[in-house]
Amino acid sequence: MTSGIDILQEVLRECLEEKEARMVKANKAQPMTRQTEAGLEKWCSKCEAYRPADLDHFYQDNRSKTKLSSWCRKCQRASVGSSNKQSKPVKGNGDNTLVLDFSNADMLLADLQAEAVTDFRSTEMQALYLISKGLLKEANQNGRP
Ligand SMILES: [Zn+2]
Repeated sequence: MTSGIDILQEVLRECLEEKEARMVKANKAQPMTRQTEAGLEKWCSKCEAYRPADLDHFYQDNRSKTKLSSWCRKCQRASVGSSNKQSKPVKGNGDNTLVLDFSNADMLLADLQAEAVTDFRSTEMQALYLISKGLLKEANQNGRP
């Protein structure tokens, strides 16, 4: 059986790829990276500024072409920090509760939180949205309406 985390991971990856493709299209005049005298710089789509394209300024993201996250470390940290403050601990009791364990998926959680911010949802809502999307897709692939 597929776990919620697996579905989330897959759907979120697709979502991010779609979004990145759209951004690349929209940002033709705004290149994701630029070469300066100081070295290569990468655009942070959150604070809308160029930062040195290295691991001191961006998190590693192997799914990205540049191998760096689309937000700079400062923005990603700020986003994770603020979402953590808002979210309450989830109690796993009853059939209506979905518990997602992100202990082995730090990057997934950060991506999810970043996605939630850009889509104006809470992290929990974003997780549910993506999981339902994934489940629907799975159902469609199995030939069910
Ligand atoms: Zn930034």
